[in-house]
Amino acid sequence: MGLQYKRILLKLSGEAMAGEKHFGLDYPTVQRICESIKACHELGAEIAIVVGGGNFWRGRQNGSMDRTRADHIGMLATVMNSLSLADALESLGVETRVQTAIPMQSIAEPYIRNKAVRHLEKGRVVIFGCGTGNPFFSTDTGAALRAAEIDLETGESKDVLKTREAISIPLAAPLGEHTYTPESDFTANGYHLEGVRAELSPAGLYLFTTFTAP
Ligand code: UDP
Repeated sequence: MGLQYKRILLKLSGEAMAGEKHFGLDYPTVQRICESIKACHELGAEIAIVVGGGNFWRGRQNGSMDRTRADHIGMLATVMNSLSLADALESLGVETRVQTAIPMQSIAEPYIRNKAVRHLEKGRVVIFGCGTGNPFFSTDTGAALRAAEIDLETGESKDVLKTREAISIPLAAPLGEHTYTPESDFTANGYHLEGVRAELSPAGLYLFTTFTAP
């Protein structure tokens, strides 16, 4: 079975990284997630990942703290998750690059769209940290933004998700749980992604799907 989509974007919620602990990073859980990502990668998919930070911090849930500062902390949380994903993928032999919307060159590349596309073309998994780089946004919006940006390069290829489509794998949810109405399916080598769907809302573009293991 071939790939329906050559280039995909995964939105991983921070909670997915916490496993049973429900807070912070559970590295065995991260490794398990990365085994799934590796399996998709081996099928030839070009994979970009936007990762959240809710396993550490969400700006809007921090009471009296200045919202902008609280969101800065949230974006730093996404970088911790990005680095752990990169580490787990590389331990499985998958080459990665982390790019952050807020520059922090000592530990990651700054986000440069053309460079990200080039990494994808070379088969590197690109992990985007810091969401949009702006407070008052979420990593869901960041995922929509990056999906739109990395699609532009490849234009009309039918193998590439359209600007408003991306694939989100909510691994924090029980596998097979169907939360959203399926509109189209993505099947590759036993991996079945259902309900690839994009919706515009006042807060931005939301990306939905469900994921079923073989
Ligand atoms: N955040 C932000 N701007 C962005 C993306 C994220 O300020 O573009 C901050 C915000 O505080 C958010 C936190 O980072 O609560 C973690 O992101 P998110 O809540 O989207 O993580 P998830 O729920 O996916 O784990």
